[in-house]
Amino acid sequence: MTSHSPHPGVPADPTPTPTAQPAVGTSTAAGRAGLVLRHALDEGLLTAREPVAGFLDTDGVRETVRALHTAFAPVPDVLHTFAVKASSLVPVLRLLTGLGMGCEVASPGELRLALDAGCDPSRIVLDSPAKTREEIAEALALGVALNADNLDELDRIDALRPDGCASVVGLRVNPQVGGGSIGAMSTATATSKFGVALRDEGAREAVHRAFARRPWLTRLHAHVGSQGCPLELIAEGVAETYRLAEEINERLGRRQITGLDIGGGLPVNFADDTVRPTFDDYTAALRAAVPGLFDGRYGLVTEFGRSLLAKNGFIAARVEYAKEAGGRRIAVTHAGAQTATRTVLMPGAWPLRVGAFDAQGHPKTGPDVVQDVAGPCCFAGDVVAEARPLPALTEGDHVVLYDTGAYYFSTPWAYNSLPRPAVHGYVLDGGQVRCAPVRDAQTLDEIAAESGARHADALHTLR
Ligand SMILES: *Cc1c(COP(=O)(O)O)cnc(C)c1O
Repeated sequence: MTSHSPHPGVPADPTPTPTAQPAVGTSTAAGRAGLVLRHALDEGLLTAREPVAGFLDTDGVRETVRALHTAFAPVPDVLHTFAVKASSLVPVLRLLTGLGMGCEVASPGELRLALDAGCDPSRIVLDSPAKTREEIAEALALGVALNADNLDELDRIDALRPDGCASVVGLRVNPQVGGGSIGAMSTATATSKFGVALRDEGAREAVHRAFARRPWLTRLHAHVGSQGCPLELIAEGVAETYRLAEEINERLGRRQITGLDIGGGLPVNFADDTVRPTFDDYTAALRAAVPGLFDGRYGLVTEFGRSLLAKNGFIAARVEYAKEAGGRRIAVTHAGAQTATRTVLMPGAWPLRVGAFDAQGHPKTGPDVVQDVAGPCCFAGDVVAEARPLPALTEGDHVVLYDTGAYYFSTPWAYNSLPRPAVHGYVLDGGQVRCAPVRDAQTLDEIAAESGARHADALHTLR
């Protein structure tokens, strides 16, 4: 896999990603995607008018949530929240809430979605690094838990916190244990924008004073990083946070800190069907790094996102054209940067597996041909897979982007005014596929409305 990388300096696809086909049956992601794709084509869920859509395996989500609960079962008091940014879709949040999860939110919009999904405010944690006074006041009025990002935010909370406030309030710290392989996903570097940088001069003492002054400050929070961070690094950050909690409680002579929010960040394997690392691997790493963590002296909060949904979803898109340029074969599809934004903008960090299916949704056979899988956006870098060996894609075929259940179809980019694609939930009942709508595709009227149509004359009449 060599490159004519559209992104200078970024190697194309450093981890060779095996193609996942042609597999049938329900034991592989490719087999399941084929079944769902054929059903979607039969039902008109993927058409020339709606040439790209997201699909979410709801039984898979149930199973993944069960695995999370099982891994943490020994902990007497644990609240598992779902990081809403990983799938900001109300039906998904309601599904997760029904499975016993709370919600981690980072904006007024995410808070609204969590509430609309029916999540109890006491099971919501607000973590934005830029909370306004208004947002803080609203969270405190609702009884939503919040983690202050910094000491100035604690001062704001002092002023806004009503008597008898039900909100659990914590402080986010940055244990500064270092970064993983993706800088943009590493939140515990020396200069990360998140939390109180613990190893900075005077910071630890300031944190001690902050707790001493506020008996209602009862939680410490650390989210060390996301994709690209090894388990040991995350566990080390949690261990640092645990040691700080012990130190604060000891100095105060009371158990003021009663809870630790250990964040999310379990990385996902995008290279094949296996789930690794597992939640069990993670709790084993935590146990090794922090033997006391699970003994029940602290209530725990988790905030997983990607690891709960990534492998339970895929994007399917029609191939509109197949062409050649400079000796390279290129499939122009409808899945590009608008729905696989990270992969297109940072192809070295976010390689995806691509499956090739024919017009009817059957796995394509035939010899692999090295080809680019491109999207519909009008910039040259809009390529989701570069120089990928796949059976030759032609007009009317379909591509499947695997492992895109988190942060992909749920978080589209409005580039080129391309519509947000529809999202469908599915279950496989034996060989039978059943689908339910999660989000409708955006219409042209909605695009116009969200693009200022109401103010069409505003500039024209300004002078
Ligand atoms: C993004 C984020 C998470 C979720 O991270 P994942 O890698 O999706 O598990 C959890 N906590 C905070 C504070 C975050 O910003």
